[in-house]
Amino acid sequence: MRRIYHNGKVCAGRTFLGRPRTRHRCLQIEPDLTDLMAMSRDANELLWAWKGWRDAVGRPMRDLYPIYVNLSNVAAVNKGFSNEGESWLHRYEDPDFIDDIDYLWESIKPLYLQVHAYVRRRLVDYYGSDVVDLHGPIPAHLLGNMWAQEWNNIYDIVEPYPGHGAIDVTNEMKDLGWTAENMFTVANQFFTSLGLESMPRSFWAKSMMVKPRNREVSCHGSSLDFYKNKDVRIKMCTEVNMQDLFTVHHEMGHCQYYLQYRNQHALFRDGANPGFHEAVGDTVSLSVITPSYLNRIGLLQQSLSNHTESNINFLMKLALFKLVFLPYGLLVDKWRWQAFKGEIQPNDYNQAWWNLRKQYQGIQAPIPRSPHDFDPGAKFHVATGTPYVRYFVSFVIQFQFHKALCDAKGEQGPLHLCNIYNSKEAGRKFRSMLKMGASKPWHDAMEVMTGQRKMDAKPLLEYIQPLTEWLRNENQGKFVGWT
Ligand SMILES: [Zn+2]
Repeated sequence: MRRIYHNGKVCAGRTFLGRPRTRHRCLQIEPDLTDLMAMSRDANELLWAWKGWRDAVGRPMRDLYPIYVNLSNVAAVNKGFSNEGESWLHRYEDPDFIDDIDYLWESIKPLYLQVHAYVRRRLVDYYGSDVVDLHGPIPAHLLGNMWAQEWNNIYDIVEPYPGHGAIDVTNEMKDLGWTAENMFTVANQFFTSLGLESMPRSFWAKSMMVKPRNREVSCHGSSLDFYKNKDVRIKMCTEVNMQDLFTVHHEMGHCQYYLQYRNQHALFRDGANPGFHEAVGDTVSLSVITPSYLNRIGLLQQSLSNHTESNINFLMKLALFKLVFLPYGLLVDKWRWQAFKGEIQPNDYNQAWWNLRKQYQGIQAPIPRSPHDFDPGAKFHVATGTPYVRYFVSFVIQFQFHKALCDAKGEQGPLHLCNIYNSKEAGRKFRSMLKMGASKPWHDAMEVMTGQRKMDAKPLLEYIQPLTEWLRNENQGKFVGWT
């Protein structure tokens, strides 16, 4: 399944959408199809890519996935679990974990519904009501992302206040001639400004920062701990744009964690829980995204902090990235837990997937699906057997971490403008948690960092609060939810 995913290509025929084939060769998922989904505003072209990717990689996995489920369960039972899903959940060492994440989602859902209703209305305006139903789930191919998991790429369609600055510094990065290496250097400087570790010399020599020309590689960004001195590395096909600037910070956050807990016993050289590992770099990114920091590194001239309109624009962009992701972050493993438990059977796999997509995200397939399709397999983490709920956890707790570090710095202003760059106090707090690795239950690590022992959605809701009010006002008297 991993090989099917990595070798997956979508090729246009002799003609494409009725035109002779000119710009399309065979497209890989990264960067070709990803860029197409982000940038195309042609609903037919988007549908072609959406369907093509699922035909290329989902369908061929359909008959393999039940075998994978059975084998995984055999292995899990041999480890003393009742099924593979239970084995994954064991990492969270908490019998209430599922109840807790369901509770977190319930507290975030009202805000998600507001964003969903607003975005859907703007999509109706853009594509017309024959493409998008004003009262229905949103078709999955129009949201700027192959999996409709993050919607920030269609910010241009939904921008609340056009012309008031959206803080996308991609053009500035390109104009200033930034390279992948610049992006890695800037990320490293942020961590060292907090008094944390600098990436060692071997990191710079042995990481793969750009796509090599002479061979095919898997471009899915990842970080690696070789458990040997300070040998940590990143593998990614970095492109010069703002999204990849955040991805570089994300991956370097993993490496920072590896370095911080390297003196622990080998068994404890791991995140407090998998969500913690994903949250380290993202926590830093919440500072990197601020106007004050982008200004500091020369990517933003004006400070936008005093204008309501630009603040709303900024928070909308953030919500399209971080808030909108949460239902997807939850449902991928909800589906797999059901499959591992045998609550859904192979013939129902795809229908069950779309039931969850509709229930949690308010998304539907743009064209009818059949039991021969296997759309979950079109997602990297399903194809490669990588657990996913860690990202849901991360997207909640990174705001808890951000708030805790901003408090440590003594920051007084609104949470979304807080930037912890250079704060040794914030760095000390961060380090004391990171050094623990997995040597203590994650609740203890959480307490060291935030003073709380539980996951909490309040810092996320506090961060987005100005947008919440704006959306309630904007959606007044309009249809919210889906039928
Ligand atoms: Zn990661």
